[in-house]
Amino acid sequence: MIYLDNAATTALHPEVRQTMEAYLTDAYGNPSSLHGFGRQARAGLDHARAQIAQFLGCRADELVFTSGGTESIHAALVGAIFKHPHGRHIVTTSAEHHAVLDTCAFLTDLGVEVTYVAPQQDGVVSTASVCAAIRSDTAVVSVMAVNNELGSKNPIGEIAHAVKVTSPHTLVHSDMVQALGTVPTDLSVMELDLASFSAHKIHGPKGSGLLYVRKGSQWHPVLHGGAQERGRRAGTENVAGAVGLGAAVARMASRWTAHVQDLHDVNEAFWEGISSLPDIHRNSPGNAVPSILNVAFDGIRSETLLMRLDLEGVAASAGSACTAGSLEPSHVLAACGLLPGVIESSVRFSFSDDTSLEDAHRAATIVRDVVQQLRHHR
Ligand code: PLP
Repeated sequence: MIYLDNAATTALHPEVRQTMEAYLTDAYGNPSSLHGFGRQARAGLDHARAQIAQFLGCRADELVFTSGGTESIHAALVGAIFKHPHGRHIVTTSAEHHAVLDTCAFLTDLGVEVTYVAPQQDGVVSTASVCAAIRSDTAVVSVMAVNNELGSKNPIGEIAHAVKVTSPHTLVHSDMVQALGTVPTDLSVMELDLASFSAHKIHGPKGSGLLYVRKGSQWHPVLHGGAQERGRRAGTENVAGAVGLGAAVARMASRWTAHVQDLHDVNEAFWEGISSLPDIHRNSPGNAVPSILNVAFDGIRSETLLMRLDLEGVAASAGSACTAGSLEPSHVLAACGLLPGVIESSVRFSFSDDTSLEDAHRAATIVRDVVQQLRHHR
């Protein structure tokens, strides 16, 4: 089976699993305990935090371990609203992940107003359109760094700077879940207050993530019940999960240039292999991250193609939420103004450093054959 759904999740890397194992077995202490077991667990957490801080260009004490991207995003937005004295307004985009959109819907029920900025057709949100939506009561602006369906990159450093110039008291959050491992994420050169990350997109464990909170940012914790994570996220830490995230980041950092080049090579090889098919369109823009390639196959429904590909040994996705086994049309592609016929025939192929060039060539051949067969039998 060739796995081309790495934007959904990636396989746990054996080195990461090995690093985690000690914290699932012998080093099982509670990091808040003062005895040796506790100190051992605390040392694991501290080491992971330092590894990640070094890669992200931030202070270790600006990082809060969470249960993943969704929790980080929820805490970022809800915490920004709770802290802001007059903040009743959020600016975000209509191409965000449901973690952002559904948190905004929840806050709307509590009386918060949300402005959804539309992306351009290439999935990119312009800095000017974000700034134009800011009001005097805007508590937080939230824009994803990389879109999970198209791979489009937003100019997040530029957006953060422009928001601060327009409205210095407004917090800036970015969902960086798909950015980690695909674009530079040096927080020292960005004026972000808050950023969300997840381990399982970079060969780390599921259920482990991070919230970056810039020192001094006006943000309020949302999970109460203990003083863990310097009072910013209560609950005994998932030590093995945090250690796994640290190991996954360190592994990626140690081979960054090769890692990004490999993704480019695999993406190109796959696209070259299928681009001779007539009536297909590359939905991902030319400068998308190399890990994501979204393609429309005219006249073929994505469910049909995905099922046939699954039978032939290729796992991909429609890049849309799969609820109870039924595919919803992509809100991202709709937000980018793609026509319903194109949306219904779009498939997302996503790569990781587990994907070999041979996988890319073989998968492209299978896609070509299946598309030709489906068109032949129409
Ligand atoms: N944001 C984006 C852009 C994602 O792709 C995902 C995962 O699919 C999330 C947030 C949610 O992250 P997690 O699965 O760690 O909760």
